[in-house]
Amino acid sequence: MHCPFCRHNDSRVIDSRTADDGATIRRRRQCPACNRRFTTSETATLTVIKRSGVTEPFSRPKIVSGVRKACQGRPVGDDDLAVLAQQVEEHMRASGQAQIEAHEVGLAILGPLRRLDEIAYLRFASVYQGFETLDDFEAAIALLRAERDMTSSDATHDSPGHPGERGDQHDHDISADTSSRAHHGVLEGSHMTPRQGGTN
Ligand SMILES: [Zn+2]
Repeated sequence: MHCPFCRHNDSRVIDSRTADDGATIRRRRQCPACNRRFTTSETATLTVIKRSGVTEPFSRPKIVSGVRKACQGRPVGDDDLAVLAQQVEEHMRASGQAQIEAHEVGLAILGPLRRLDEIAYLRFASVYQGFETLDDFEAAIALLRAERDMTSSDATHDSPGHPGERGDQHDHDISADTSSRAHHGVLEGSHMTPRQGGTN
């Protein structure tokens, strides 16, 4: 592969090792032109099947950009979004499937986003799940409140200002009856680059 420093069109593998319980291979490479070293990370491609039938590689940046729109003006930082995208990818990989439907990716976003910021969650869900009336919002808010009540009955005190700090909640409910018309927006476009750069 190209050297990321000088764009020389070849590189030499000087070390190879597995990581993440064998799910990843990391290769230390050296550029024969500029002699600089870099690391590549190789994982099985996680493929997303769009509703049109077109497939594309799963992309964390795409998750981030899709969710970022819902987080405008909210106290959600780039690091939070990076963690969310990582959680979504881990969730997808844990399913053991090499191909997943775009719709499942959207569902996997809802849980972590709800824990991160409830307003951003409502915005995202309203687009993703195609809310059309105030009733849709009311139903979603009722579910959020029900979850909050469940959570606060477990804890000695609630912390409404910090929804992200509450414990793990299970992802059932809202996502169950997602209508098929609403799977748009989040996962358009296509790009996925190997992670590069020094890890040692
Ligand atoms: Zn080079």
